[in-house]
Amino acid sequence: MQQRMLERFKKKLIKEREKLLADVNHIRNEELSKSPRDATGELSGYANHMADGGTDTIERQVSLGLMSNEEAMLLKIDEALQRISDKTYGVCELCKEKISQERLNAMSYATYCIKCRSQEENGNNNKV
Ligand SMILES: [Zn+2]
Repeated sequence: MQQRMLERFKKKLIKEREKLLADVNHIRNEELSKSPRDATGELSGYANHMADGGTDTIERQVSLGLMSNEEAMLLKIDEALQRISDKTYGVCELCKEKISQERLNAMSYATYCIKCRSQEENGNNNKV
């Protein structure tokens, strides 16, 4: 891939990374503020929370799930940035073909080309 394109994707990835980090931090802060462990000194208003503890638990699970999704994505973005500096970015990990630019635009941390990806999704494990 041309250096200019690499730079473009690098900027895009860094932007996505910042956004994700902000999201993850936001979720984490919310979780911390909800956690009884960290409520010391801020007990006022906590009684209200106790009333709908059940909903809180569900919300907590949802946001924790969301967080691990986002952290997995962050990892992928980091890997993609690494591939940019290694100059292997935009090459399919499986077939070593170029990943289409359309696909990279839509999913800049893609590691597989669309063909390999759809084969994976179809559960075709006859990889060479
Ligand atoms: Zn491929």
